[in-house]
Amino acid sequence: MNKIADLIEANLERLAIAESLDNGKPIWLAKKVDIPRASSNMRFFAQAITQFATQAHEMNSAINYTLREPLGVVGTISPWNLPLYLFTWKVAPALAAGNCVIAKPSEVTPMTAYLLSEICIEAGLPAGVFNIVHGDGLKVGAEIAKHAKIKAVSFTGSTRVGAEIAKVAAPVFKKVSLEMGGKNPNIIFADCDYDKMLRTTVQSSFANQGQICLCGSRIFIERPIYEKFKKDFVAKTSALKVGHPSDDTSKLGAVVSKPHYEKVLSYIELAKEEGGNILTGGHAIHPEGYEEGWYIAPTIIEGLPHDCRTNQEEIFGPVVTIMPFDTEEEVLTYANSTVYGLSSTLWTENLSRAHRMAKQIDAGIVWINTWLLRDLRTPFGGVKNSGVGREGGFEALRFFTEPKNVCIQY
Ligand code: NAD
Repeated sequence: MNKIADLIEANLERLAIAESLDNGKPIWLAKKVDIPRASSNMRFFAQAITQFATQAHEMNSAINYTLREPLGVVGTISPWNLPLYLFTWKVAPALAAGNCVIAKPSEVTPMTAYLLSEICIEAGLPAGVFNIVHGDGLKVGAEIAKHAKIKAVSFTGSTRVGAEIAKVAAPVFKKVSLEMGGKNPNIIFADCDYDKMLRTTVQSSFANQGQICLCGSRIFIERPIYEKFKKDFVAKTSALKVGHPSDDTSKLGAVVSKPHYEKVLSYIELAKEEGGNILTGGHAIHPEGYEEGWYIAPTIIEGLPHDCRTNQEEIFGPVVTIMPFDTEEEVLTYANSTVYGLSSTLWTENLSRAHRMAKQIDAGIVWINTWLLRDLRTPFGGVKNSGVGREGGFEALRFFTEPKNVCIQY
């Protein structure tokens, strides 16, 4: 696995270009985030397995010890938004725990998974240990989900497909880990570190064209700073360059596909129908020379209630809404009002409030005064319709192993 990580690093340029061609993300972003993270995933779990221990439970005249054995053959199914990053995030713990893996990348972005197969051959991984199967969700994904000899399936993707997988995996008693959609709140109090908050909020709203499950798409601002925030956030957002992914000055590239482009634009229309006021963006962009590309201007919408469809459904594009609030209770009601509960971001310098709010937010991840700061040892995943189970660190190694208790009387 360390050799695979080395080879991913050695192929950084080639992998980043492939990721960008498939996905539309800027090449600089793939070079900075996606590909380095893919090699870290491999390296991290290669190390983590050496630290993974089991428990012993002593009785009066007996001792129990627990073995953690590989499951056998396991399946992974991943999405298009962070293709190699999320693909390796699942495959690495599955392999480290001693399983053979059948892994399906998204049919929309298969290229880097293919290149990884070449890397694994070069690294000397024995044939049959890691099997990359390309194809559509309905054909290949559904087979992985229901095949009785595949003992577990780790899925990342939409809530709709997660529900399908849960349905077919249940009758064959398959272990499932489901990482699904989100509609994450970004809650900004007037006492925050304003400049850091503003800088980070631009990123947490529009990084990767807003196509990160952890993006904060509902932004709640305490009323005393609402107007100032609105003015500054709109100014910074309108200045973001949307352009060809190979241009290093493009802050946003294209969205992933034509159907997704149409979906995001249809949500902007819905927001208008619901009475939303577009403060910036709200339309497609046609950069010179690339007029046919699927580019969308980063969009900020205000004036919508927290419970309208625009604020309840996952858009998964460069579209955010902003809303003022007056009290902690009120913003908690707004934040927790969706069916999702993946991540949340909180901006305040008030320590007591930070802890109080963190405990009450319905989300698997709470970032306070930061966003997307990841320690790969921590539990990663969502609550409500955002997830079942947790990835990351020993949680992932526990998922990909079966405990067996051995009791000896003496
Ligand atoms: P998707 O659910 O359409 O597809 C994800 C994967 O599932 C693909 O590989 C697809 O081929 C496969 N698939 C489709 N139908 C299937 C079926 N019936 N059985 C088995 N597999 C099937 O999701 P997407 O459009 O690729 O990705 C976007 C979604 O992923 C968003 O909802 C986003 O929030 C979510 N996501 C979540 C996380 C997280 O960590 N929670 C991370 C990234 C993306």
